[in-house]
Amino acid sequence: MAARSSLGRRAGRGVLALVSLALLGADRPPGLGDVRDVRTWSYPDYTRVVVELTRDIGLESDPTIRLPANPGADRPERLYIDLPGIWVGRRYAEGVPVGDGLLRGVRLGQNTQNTSRLVVDLESYDTHRMFTLRSPDRVVIDVYGKAKRKPTEKSSRGGPAGSSRLSMQSRRLKTIVIDPGHGGKDPGAVGIGDVHEKDINLKLAQLLAKRLRARSFKVVMTRTDDRFIDLEGRTAFAESEGGDVFISIHVNASENKNLRGIETYYLDEEHERHNVEVAARENGVRPSEVDALQQTLSRLRVAEASKLSQSLASYVHRDLTKGLSQTYGQVSDLGVKKGPFYVLFMSSMPAILVETGFLTNPKDAKLLSSDHYLDVMAAQIAAGLGHYRNRGDQRAHRLAPGGPDSRSRL
Ligand SMILES: [Zn+2]
Repeated sequence: MAARSSLGRRAGRGVLALVSLALLGADRPPGLGDVRDVRTWSYPDYTRVVVELTRDIGLESDPTIRLPANPGADRPERLYIDLPGIWVGRRYAEGVPVGDGLLRGVRLGQNTQNTSRLVVDLESYDTHRMFTLRSPDRVVIDVYGKAKRKPTEKSSRGGPAGSSRLSMQSRRLKTIVIDPGHGGKDPGAVGIGDVHEKDINLKLAQLLAKRLRARSFKVVMTRTDDRFIDLEGRTAFAESEGGDVFISIHVNASENKNLRGIETYYLDEEHERHNVEVAARENGVRPSEVDALQQTLSRLRVAEASKLSQSLASYVHRDLTKGLSQTYGQVSDLGVKKGPFYVLFMSSMPAILVETGFLTNPKDAKLLSSDHYLDVMAAQIAAGLGHYRNRGDQRAHRLAPGGPDSRSRL
């Protein structure tokens, strides 16, 4: 079970030694952004820290610095990163305790008048990755290590707890995470007849879950009702449930009413220019922000993860288009594509995003309103996953982050 903390305590015990006393009473300079929230998610072998800000801090590379422990000053090993243009004052002076065996806690303080400093106090550390996200602006730090506490049942499932984050883990494909896109205040695409994408995504996801359980897969859904979950929460949840593959379900939209068909995306360092619109919409960002995301992807080196995701996409897409053609006549097959999707690169397992049709096309909209059509679709996606499970080596690989042997883990 994930422990999520989200707090903004005021006043403090002076835990923040990094804050110069002279600054504590300093007036806030104009034009700075704020820290809106600090959230953490704890799992047996990794912890995600998300600091939500009110503005972009424009970091293009990972500026995180790792410091050794300083027992004299009662300082554990720690990571820190400066957040230019951000004012935090004393709001987090007390720090946000985590205490999950990997992280002691997170501190934020005003380092200079124009820069805040984020410090992650470590209890155990193998590696980390840091990236920024837009809309809302966030700094994400994933810390991987060996929790010093007794491993939970969940962590021991895939082998020794946390022992092999830096090498490939092999395990039987068992747990599928289904992610019905959007939900709650976020309707996704709105199509002909005021149909909301979020509703179709959920209906199809529920049918798919049923089909997968019939094939002896364990199924986890990021949402089972009409609620809003942000992307970091969706992917952190998938991690916590020990998912082996991640499938995000969406419906497309276009200004071109004639455009229809099915396309399946996987994550790759490269992407095709014409997919920017889709990526922007599904990521909830402006098209101009997709380029920055692409730079992040290049830095995180997704090559290794994308091989498995590409294979998964091919199996699912082939069965989906083939099966629908047999029942409903020729479908418009837009192919397997590369695209920069947050929800895919924040997952640590092979991950795909299926665009099941266009809500803006009359034919597709009509088909997608049919329960029978959605059920055939669900059956075919399940068949594709069955074929993926039974392929060649019969193993699903989980990838480890940034180590010398495996170039990436996403
Ligand atoms: Zn969508």
